[in-house]
Amino acid sequence: MSEPLLSVTGLVKSYPGQRARSVDEVSFTIGRGEVLGLVGESGSGKSTTARCVAALVRPDSGSVLLDGQEVTRARGRELRALRARMQMVFQDPYSSLNPRMTVEALVGEGLIVQRIECTASARRSRVIELLELVGLSADHLGRYPRSFSGGQRQRIAIARALAVSPELLICDEPVSSLDVSMQAQVLNLFRDLRERLGLSMLFIAHDLAVVRYICDRVAVMEHGRIVELGHRDQVYAAPVHPYTRALLDAVPLPDPRAERARRAAQSA
Ligand code: ADP
Ligand code: MG
Repeated sequence: MSEPLLSVTGLVKSYPGQRARSVDEVSFTIGRGEVLGLVGESGSGKSTTARCVAALVRPDSGSVLLDGQEVTRARGRELRALRARMQMVFQDPYSSLNPRMTVEALVGEGLIVQRIECTASARRSRVIELLELVGLSADHLGRYPRSFSGGQRQRIAIARALAVSPELLICDEPVSSLDVSMQAQVLNLFRDLRERLGLSMLFIAHDLAVVRYICDRVAVMEHGRIVELGHRDQVYAAPVHPYTRALLDAVPLPDPRAERARRAAQSA
């Protein structure tokens, strides 16, 4: 088997004033083209894990290898190069997009920072290509975030993340702030992008139903630790850890057949 794209080992992060570690000896891998779901209730350490992986937060200890390169010790030019290879999509597209920037500037920013498309016209073509990739169009170039719905804003944030052609997309509850109908559309987009671009993803959600739809394997986090990690079908069909079972029980299953089977299994 080839080496995983991302290899996280023994990650630890604590914040001053917090009694427990926010991330406590977390280890997992993500293969090339693989989507790993990360679920757990609020405060379990999912975002801190994501931020350590994306080199936005420095862990106290542990290792994050992207393609064999240590992320936690990278600085300067090396760090900038690593950042282009993994991009984040955040939960709240209202606060993650600068309201004073046009869509063209927002999506094109990474191209300037990473010095990818150096002329304004090449940049514009690339931005239009990216907008079309996420279901928007050239008509949106000059508009500001305020004129878009939550779902459209998240599409802009995704285009912005994809601008630098990352291999790993780190999605921190990217559909949690959207209403249910919008969630399904944006999830479809992620699935579609994964197929078309061969992206690897760390996909965080507190909703197990969301993760099930998109990921290959699932990791379950509780109090800073991964308490269960396995293939999606295995984790959903036969959760080993009581916390995973509790999370599963809390989720109404959208598939009525699965829901009947679950009720039957419970009353058996
Ligand atoms: P999740 O994303 O699963 O909700 P977080 O990673 O945001 O969890 O938080 C995990 C724990 O770390 C929480 O107890 C939270 O209060 C704490 N924490 C996260 N970020 C900070 C910070 N910048 N300063 C202090 N404590 C933090
Ligand atoms: Mg979070």
